[in-house]
Amino acid sequence: MKLLEGKTAIITGASRGIGMSIAKTFAQNGANVAFTYNSSESPALALEKELNALGVKAKAYKSNAANFQEAQDLVAQVTKDFDSIDVLINNAGITKDNLLMRISEEDFDKVIEVNLKSVFNMTKAVQRTMLKQRKGSIINMSSVVGVKGNAGQTNYAASKAGIIGFSKSVALELGSRNIRCNVIAPGFIETEMTQKLDQDTVQKWRNDIPLKRGGTPEDVANVCVFFASDMSAYVTGQVLNVGGGMLT
Ligand code: NAP
Repeated sequence: MKLLEGKTAIITGASRGIGMSIAKTFAQNGANVAFTYNSSESPALALEKELNALGVKAKAYKSNAANFQEAQDLVAQVTKDFDSIDVLINNAGITKDNLLMRISEEDFDKVIEVNLKSVFNMTKAVQRTMLKQRKGSIINMSSVVGVKGNAGQTNYAASKAGIIGFSKSVALELGSRNIRCNVIAPGFIETEMTQKLDQDTVQKWRNDIPLKRGGTPEDVANVCVFFASDMSAYVTGQVLNVGGGMLT
């Protein structure tokens, strides 16, 4: 029996990077997968095909997670297309790094909207379905930066720290209905988001990590499987660092 057999998951931002790896790993573990993208249509449609070929039901949806109404419409459509919603993974995220001195109001607001407000939008949208089912697992993607801060990332760190407070509150509010909410705080995971960075800095980071390598998207996806599955049935309100031992 596969760990996620019979479960349906919604994953935001699965057209690339960590989200794409979560979608693939979930399908390999037997989950049906509804996933979103913002602009990368062709990789999203290719992923939809790839997942369906694994024998699960999978569908790509274009939906801006930062938009409240789009999140409502998305969940209404997914509820029609799939029988249940057992797992929500709020993975969509962006960076717009700059020193506080130079950061614009627009870049601060944008990062908060896409990274943090999206988590509110999607959690509120799935809440009714999960309450009716009397079960659900919500997994929110924070970052080590949300735990310890980072110079040049005030907007991103604020959004990722906000996710932790939000998730702990959801765990307290919905625990009595058997709805769990946990947070993953990845360290340095090598994706397109990190390819934009200066490569000397990247090598220094690798050397500073106790496990001596950057993480892979699969390293994060495997932890998502744990939180989504009944293996973590008694775990809620937790933040799990997936950072190769990087201290926070
Ligand atoms: P990525 O490669 O840049 O992919 C981001 C994904 O989010 C894409 O699928 C993108 O869709 C989607 N997205 C962006 N804005 C969206 C919106 N408004 N609505 C819906 N989807 C949207 O990023 P990643 O490295 O995989 O990161 C995934 C998550 O992990 C993020 O929350 C990030 O903050 C977090 N994280 C990453 C690292 C790391 O080292 N990589 C470390 C800690 C935390 P399109 O392709 O359509 O734009």
